[in-house]
Amino acid sequence: MASVMLPEVTFQLDVKEHLEKCFLNEKAIAQVGEDVCKERWTNLLTALSYPPACTVLRVSTLHHNMVEGDNVSVYVDVNGLCRRGLTKPFDGAKVFLGNGHVVMSRRELFVTNSEPRGVAVRLCEPVFDCPSLNGILTDRLFLQNLPSIVVGHVLNPVAGNRVLDMCAAPGGKTTHLASLMKDQGVLIALDKSQNKLNKVKQNARRLGLSCIQAFSYDSTKACSRDMVKLSNHDTEINAPPYPPETFDCILLDAPCSGLGQRPQICNQLQLSELKSYPAYQRKFLTTAVELLRPGGTLVYSTCTVTLAENEGMVEWILNTFPQLALSQQIPHLGGCGFEGTDLDVQHLSKLQRFHPVTSYTSASPTHCNLDTIGFFIAKFIKRMECEQTG
Ligand code: SAH
Repeated sequence: MASVMLPEVTFQLDVKEHLEKCFLNEKAIAQVGEDVCKERWTNLLTALSYPPACTVLRVSTLHHNMVEGDNVSVYVDVNGLCRRGLTKPFDGAKVFLGNGHVVMSRRELFVTNSEPRGVAVRLCEPVFDCPSLNGILTDRLFLQNLPSIVVGHVLNPVAGNRVLDMCAAPGGKTTHLASLMKDQGVLIALDKSQNKLNKVKQNARRLGLSCIQAFSYDSTKACSRDMVKLSNHDTEINAPPYPPETFDCILLDAPCSGLGQRPQICNQLQLSELKSYPAYQRKFLTTAVELLRPGGTLVYSTCTVTLAENEGMVEWILNTFPQLALSQQIPHLGGCGFEGTDLDVQHLSKLQRFHPVTSYTSASPTHCNLDTIGFFIAKFIKRMECEQTG
């Protein structure tokens, strides 16, 4: 319903009288009754000043070759069955994503020997819109998922700390940690991929953060037992590897099956890959525990939903590293850990799980059911040697 109240349409007086007689003519009254005739007349007067509620488009069925600048609608081919360059209507399963402008012509996309790269259609009316920041405060604002922001606060490094981010790229969490440290201290950001690591450097530069030192390195090999332990006063710290017990705080935002990512329509993950993650994550955790100083904090996080990569991994950590104690998290905006492993209720209450729900289809999200990506956070403190029970 229109929220604007418009006045009735006005006509020349004689035209109005003529029309009224036309609607309220005797024959019509005799056939449908005076009330119906009057209703037709008054409806007409009120409705004419509003545009029709539905806008209708007629599609020209003449064949048209998509060229740069055309406006097109974009659909995702749910089962990946649409053939390259198909010109007939596609009748497989598809979902509408939005309208956009063509940047790459049909020719550039399909009549080429190499794989086309880059932007083909620039979406200007996406079904789900993320408001543009229009380049405002680019040195201060960072688009980030809520659970990823929670992770930084849960680790909570302070100015002067030695901090390690084991899987840093593109650097969303790294740059948050640096600002929590007031850009004072040392923040080592590692990532195996050199390309992605450049993003960390770019983001650090954009946000004016200088305490971040980024290295392309395999984090599972970042600890060298042959190196002499650093003292608390050593501020000089360079490229990896590092001696054991070097860091006050470690973030392991581990490579994971990513099943909490949203939106996703057509997930292609193979079962063999899904099953490969826990073993890989255990390697990072083993290195993380060695690199953490007694009394230090380790935060483990994933953006996936499986028990094996989340609660199951916490169970393994507690069984394997008696020197680690599971810790309460602040803030705790998500739900608790899920049942299904040998962790007890007390343990589960210390874990933070963001389980996807959507406010598009369900009632409004409650405190423990925010409409976020799927995410998992566990926080551990490494016991001081004298506290260890063995
Ligand atoms: N923490 C990041 C996201 C990390 S995603 C952020 O908040 O922006 C996981 C990352 O782990 C990927 O960038 C991947 O390149 C990296 N990675 C995978 N294996 C690795 C390894 N062995 N050593 C270091 N980084 C690795």
